[in-house]
Amino acid sequence: MDTVIRLCPDTTAFSDEEQLRYARHLSLPEIGRAGQHRLRCASVLVIGAGGLGSPALLCLAAAGVGRLGIIDPDYVELSNLQRQVLYTTAGCGRPKVEEAHDHLLALNPHLQIDIYPEAFTLANAAQLIARYDLIIEGSDRFATKYLVNDACVLAGKPYIGASVRAFSGMLSIYAAPEGPCYRCLFPEMPAPETIPSCAQAGVLGTVPGLLGTLQAHEALKLILGIGEPLIGTLLTVDGLTMRFQKLRLPRDLECPVCGEAPTIRILAEAPALCPAAAHPAEDQADLPWLSVEAGREHSGLRWIDIRTLAEFAAGHIPGAAHIPLDQIEILTTASIGPHDHLLLYCQQGGRTVQAYHRLKGKLQGRLSLLHGGYEAWLNSRAAQNAVTR
Ligand SMILES: [Zn+2]
Repeated sequence: MDTVIRLCPDTTAFSDEEQLRYARHLSLPEIGRAGQHRLRCASVLVIGAGGLGSPALLCLAAAGVGRLGIIDPDYVELSNLQRQVLYTTAGCGRPKVEEAHDHLLALNPHLQIDIYPEAFTLANAAQLIARYDLIIEGSDRFATKYLVNDACVLAGKPYIGASVRAFSGMLSIYAAPEGPCYRCLFPEMPAPETIPSCAQAGVLGTVPGLLGTLQAHEALKLILGIGEPLIGTLLTVDGLTMRFQKLRLPRDLECPVCGEAPTIRILAEAPALCPAAAHPAEDQADLPWLSVEAGREHSGLRWIDIRTLAEFAAGHIPGAAHIPLDQIEILTTASIGPHDHLLLYCQQGGRTVQAYHRLKGKLQGRLSLLHGGYEAWLNSRAAQNAVTR
């Protein structure tokens, strides 16, 4: 195949240690010294160091991709560890990019690792993408997926995008020369009601592991210029039946960003769909948040769990009533006692913002929202247990 990635030549000899480290690459005629040099010269930006980014980064670092960029604003949390294989229990509470940096350098000290403890936004998108040969998109936010797509198309940089849900996933290379982009497949962001809320979508831990590994696999192929990359092809994976399907994904000449008469010519942020992100932090600060501790001390509260039935059944705060978000409108002044004050909670807090906006008209002054949601309550209980042990 023609190489999609142009690299500066670097023929510095490999040390004895590197020859041993990369021996299984050097012995492959398709890679050899020239290929390993290409890997060492290449740079890859990984957007999102979560379920997809973790295995992708581990594979790229192990393979000897010389410079890796990692952007993620989050901190390692206990609930990440079921699938984010880059992190450890001891690393909880630390910024993901710092944990990733230390772990990857311990794996391969020959690499340069750039870390950006921030979100990928309109403000930094173009500069970041310009610094790397290739991009891996492992975000779980639709707004970020569209921003990465548009920034890569406008910069002429290919990227490997993937998404996962429950037991399945899909993967393709977008924005390669002559290839399609994500908007050729999905021109506009899906309607909010068709997307599960940020925190409620479950996934089997191995599914992002598989798709993230495949993202690194396609990145290595692109850098090496070998095989048939997934350009113009969408790979879908059903992890329950193990059916892998390759669907032809042609470029859409009417695509709003890569088509013949594009309507998107400069970067603009797509509206955020996560309810928590949809209301900027400054707006949210005015909402009636209550910490777990304050909630415990407040005796007259009715705790309401607004998550799905499956989430409630898997574990909830003792004594809480269950009223899922899609039925939240049944809460009216007539349906609750005259002196009741409600404390709403979801998994992490995002969905309660949505519930608050639906209820505030009729229950103003009688609603509070649990800051950090059920996970904050679990964390505080774990901390209490640690103290009493
Ligand atoms: Zn397109």
